[in-house]
Amino acid sequence: MQPISRRQGLHLLAVGSASVLARPAGAQGNPDVIIVGAGLSGLYAASLLEEQGLRVLVLEGKRRVGGRVFSVDNVPGHPEGGANAIAGPYPRLRSMAERLKIPLVDRLARGPLKRERALVIDGKVISAEAWKDSPRNPFPDDLRTTMPWEYTGKIVSGSDPFTSLDDWYSKDFQSYDVSLHDFLRLRGATDEIIELAVNTNFPDGNSAHDVSMLNIFARDFGQKFRARSGPINMIGKGGNQRIPEGMARTLKTEIRLGTKVVGLRTDKSGVEVRCQDGTNLHARFAICTVPVPVVQQIRFDPVLTGVQARAVKSMLYSLCTQIHIVPTKPFWEDDGLPPGMWTDGPAGMISPNYPGDRPEEITSLTAYARGANATYMDSIGPEAAKAVVVRAIESARPASKGRLKAIHAHSWQLDEFAMGADFMIWKPGQISQFYGNMWAPHGRIHFCGQHTAPNESGMEGAMESGERVALEVLKQI
Ligand SMILES: Cc1cc2nc3c(=O)[nH]c(=O)nc-3n(C[C@H](O)[C@H](O)[C@H](O)COP(=O)(O)OP(=O)(O)OC[C@H]3O[C@@H](n4cnc5c(N)ncnc54)[C@H](O)[C@@H]3O)c2cc1C
Repeated sequence: MQPISRRQGLHLLAVGSASVLARPAGAQGNPDVIIVGAGLSGLYAASLLEEQGLRVLVLEGKRRVGGRVFSVDNVPGHPEGGANAIAGPYPRLRSMAERLKIPLVDRLARGPLKRERALVIDGKVISAEAWKDSPRNPFPDDLRTTMPWEYTGKIVSGSDPFTSLDDWYSKDFQSYDVSLHDFLRLRGATDEIIELAVNTNFPDGNSAHDVSMLNIFARDFGQKFRARSGPINMIGKGGNQRIPEGMARTLKTEIRLGTKVVGLRTDKSGVEVRCQDGTNLHARFAICTVPVPVVQQIRFDPVLTGVQARAVKSMLYSLCTQIHIVPTKPFWEDDGLPPGMWTDGPAGMISPNYPGDRPEEITSLTAYARGANATYMDSIGPEAAKAVVVRAIESARPASKGRLKAIHAHSWQLDEFAMGADFMIWKPGQISQFYGNMWAPHGRIHFCGQHTAPNESGMEGAMESGERVALEVLKQI
């Protein structure tokens, strides 16, 4: 799949516009395009196709739009349960927010303590000064002042060979399609270092064994590339979910909520979309935006074959279970430690949220369990998980005792419409094997979603893919 630049995309949409509007519109009867999923990619594709005069129907399994953009509205400050940061120029998303008149709040200007974290090992706080000489510090002499969460970035950033956003799928770099574990071992890391500094609270995979270095370098280079226009960390005022909600409101297109798609059949004349409630719908084209583990649950007729089938069956997703906690008193003012924490226990990583009207006001804390810790939290269930996290914080930070209310738990991998969290993980060997052929159209079924975006990541990747798929469909019409 060839990446398209924003400029090419806009040009093609302008050209497409004339040709589609000139054809006799199928204004009656079946829609031209059925879009499965009302996340950012589906909503953006719907808006672009609608602008070109096509009749679109969006089917969404949940009772809300936004997909993995999800603001937890029952917790003060509407903290993000899904997409957190507009972490770069994100041109499509930002111009959409502007069009919808949703202000963006600059998080870097808020919460002076946001970036600081207390280190909690074996249930005890260890100060940065004490960490250097701690018997639990696994690092070699030249890295003993490194905090566990800084280690991978230091090693990876120093050896990242990429100079452009598309290097990760270039043949020139295929020798890096090995695991992060093997890469670090070759650079002298011990298993003890990898366990603490990578596998604990790992944001870029589920363990160092299951992620390719090409994936790791792509994320590192992407971050550096986006930071060229200056540090950016924005959030939609009142919650990022207000953006997809606004997008949905501006569509003429019908969005059917609570409609789970279970089958997609394609032939020369069109597509039949089968829903769990027994309805069968027809259109000239379908766009499937759902994350890969959900693609695996949909029955395709004819079946997916070859590389596409193998890829869809074997892709892994990141894991994330969150507990949202409201502190009834600012306990960090009593113990003098930062409100944020990095723990090697079940509480995982704890981030304070500062979305309130006063920049320094912390409205809630989010505990993120990743990898094996997320699996553990899922196994004990949401109520026990909340209790475990509160107990872990209270034990490490006695000043918080009786001052924490765990309000909301969310597991993305147990969510039947996501079945995984932030992103698709390319395992060692998969990029060389699958890249390029994975998301070719299957008859009249086209694929989009963040996982299909070659260059942009996260929310902007979803928008990029929505634009690409709209063009793909317009070219067929
Ligand atoms: C914990 C977490 C943190 C994140 N942090 C960031 C961040 O800081 N910055 C960033 O840019 N991005 C972040 N992301 C990623 C970002 O949320 C996603 O990349 C983006 O929202 C994906 O959009 P999408 O349209 O591709 O997919 P989705 O949002 O997953 O949309 C797919 C839609 O399809 C629906 N669906 C699924 N199955 C069916 C079915 N069978 N029938 C009908 N409908 C179905 C789903 O309900 C969903 O609405 C984060 C995500 C998570 C989970």
